[in-house]
Amino acid sequence: MKSRGLYERLIGDFARLPGVGHRGAQRLAFAILRMDPERARLLGETIIEARATARACTVCGNLTGREVCEICSNRRRDTTRIMVVEDPGTLYQIEHTGTYRGLYHVLAEVFSPLEPTDPSRVRADRLIARLRDGEVQEVILATSPTVEGEATALYLTREIHPLGIAVTRIAYGVPVGMELEYADEVSLIKSIEGRHPV
Ligand SMILES: [Zn+2]
Repeated sequence: MKSRGLYERLIGDFARLPGVGHRGAQRLAFAILRMDPERARLLGETIIEARATARACTVCGNLTGREVCEICSNRRRDTTRIMVVEDPGTLYQIEHTGTYRGLYHVLAEVFSPLEPTDPSRVRADRLIARLRDGEVQEVILATSPTVEGEATALYLTREIHPLGIAVTRIAYGVPVGMELEYADEVSLIKSIEGRHPV
């Protein structure tokens, strides 16, 4: 392949990644072309290996290279709490804050109540199976405040309540530092619903 076609393909591949765009793709491609060749080779190998070994944790559904992920197999985690998230990306975000020490359950895809055969329903049912061993005392629902996310939260609440386990929903609202008059209506309503005593 001619060089020009190769570089264009590199830019095109980056541009297809979420949130990058054509300008960003050009910057990434040129950064790689300016890299030390050995570093670039290692980056390529990391991508190949990560993609080849990536799988869902058999316990929680988190992205991992092992059968059971690092969080599920960490004995220092609080095993009485499970936080339900929609995807591994949300899990990573919450882990990054360093404030949560419990376990997770990844639904991978939010299912719509209109499609009861959706595969992520299976993951929700797997969560119920996890709860039956009796160790979990609280399930924290951290699904998005969208129609699908709310439907998932409602479904899980109905399923979990009969097990006698506390179900909590994380609070949503106005981002810190934002002036209230600029907040969108849904965020404002959610922030009022999620109010707490002061
Ligand atoms: Zn896991």
